[in-house]
Amino acid sequence: MLGFFGFFLIYLDFFDFVPVKIYFHLGLCACYCADIDFPLTDAVNLKGKFFVAFPVTIFFPRDFKVKRLVLASRRKDFSPRRHRKNKYCNDKNFSAPHSLPLAILFKFFKICRLSRANAGCIILLTGKRISLFYTGMGAQGEKKFELMGIPPEKLGRQFEQIGERKFRAKQLMKWIYAHGNFDFFTMTDIPMSLRQYLAENASITLPEIAEVAGSSDGSTKFLFKLEDGAYVESVYIPDKERGRHTVCLSSQVGCKFGCVFCATGKMGFVRNLTSTEIVGQLYLVREHIRVGGNDLTNVEFMGMGEPLDNLDAVLDAIRVMVADVGFGLGHRKILISTVGIPEGIRKIMQTDVRPKLAISLNAPDDELRSKLMPINKKYPIRTLMELVPEYAKYSRRWVTFEYVLFGGVNDSLEHAHRLVQLIAGLPAKVNLIPYNEVEGIEFRRPNDRDVLRFQSYLLANSIVATIRYSKGRDIHGACGQLAGRFVLKEK
Ligand code: SF4
Repeated sequence: MLGFFGFFLIYLDFFDFVPVKIYFHLGLCACYCADIDFPLTDAVNLKGKFFVAFPVTIFFPRDFKVKRLVLASRRKDFSPRRHRKNKYCNDKNFSAPHSLPLAILFKFFKICRLSRANAGCIILLTGKRISLFYTGMGAQGEKKFELMGIPPEKLGRQFEQIGERKFRAKQLMKWIYAHGNFDFFTMTDIPMSLRQYLAENASITLPEIAEVAGSSDGSTKFLFKLEDGAYVESVYIPDKERGRHTVCLSSQVGCKFGCVFCATGKMGFVRNLTSTEIVGQLYLVREHIRVGGNDLTNVEFMGMGEPLDNLDAVLDAIRVMVADVGFGLGHRKILISTVGIPEGIRKIMQTDVRPKLAISLNAPDDELRSKLMPINKKYPIRTLMELVPEYAKYSRRWVTFEYVLFGGVNDSLEHAHRLVQLIAGLPAKVNLIPYNEVEGIEFRRPNDRDVLRFQSYLLANSIVATIRYSKGRDIHGACGQLAGRFVLKEK
């Protein structure tokens, strides 16, 4: 808790003689941070310390001329005395003699490396030592803001916050995703002042390709190394017959759901991916597809991790994928594959995105499913079935039940019969996936005869059922295997 032992506020309103009004709010707070972590820097934590804070806020309208002056003040050769000659602020308003103090003010911000007109400082009293820290957004001016994987609406808002117009976000995205141009200075429809600002303050980050493994069937696995050294994988799956070029993406490093047949589940949970990292995978795999003279058609969230457990980042990534200035994919070309988290499914239905949904079922009853997928104890099959008609209506597509067939576990005719009873009448189809054996996991692949018999039973009972043979078996083709193997080996 923060205790405020004293407080006073000074309100100053001056500089109103210049074209742009500026208000200073000065406050002084004596504070004690009792029992919460309040990190000021990596090394300094305010917990258990007395300190005095001087928050300072300066308001001014989002005025184009002010913005130009701010940008001009960031130029290395900027001088308050010469500012009136500066080509970036030669507007008649700023040729007034009183604009000089304004320029000095922004020069001050430049010295403090504050990128916005919000500032504050904290004086920390530690014994006899007094330390001074600048705080607020401005103090983070050193950290560049990320452009990769940020949806147009969000990027537009960020641009507005720096006094830019919203449509610049779309112009910028077009350069990044359509033209593959990451050099701000060659983005010719963006004003030079903004290009300069972006070059200094923004970044476009892609993961590092650590390993690429090509399969004899044409699929390719990518192992990506992220900024913190974590690894994730993506798989490119071409389907020449149907003209599809699908990319299977990861949404988390590791996974907390511990399905007993999954290599990723063995790793445990490490962290969520950001939308930047998710879109970065897609961007690089699409480059690979384009080199082969094709283009990306479909995306599946079926790699490492549970997408509904990292839904905000996944939704942002999807917004980039469906944006005209992003990847330009249709909503129906994107599939989220989930273990079945009802809150997550409901949350998607309250958003602006309509991806297809695949629920990883793998068993026709709760007893067997709970053994294979521990999450079933929390969300039994019934809770998922209730949502199927609702989601099918929302996405205007049937829901898919993924059913991984394990030899001798869930592949008998009795299982097929119970599956028919479970899903008959629902707007859903079944995707049968013969299990890919993974080193260290005691499940075996069913024989092809049993797989066909299972499918025939479903078809004979009016259930739409397809068999999906995982591609790239020779390169550890099931999603989750490559990174899983890599990490297990490292351990
Ligand atoms: S199957 Fe999916 S949800 Fe289950 S452990 Fe693997 S990655 Fe996680």
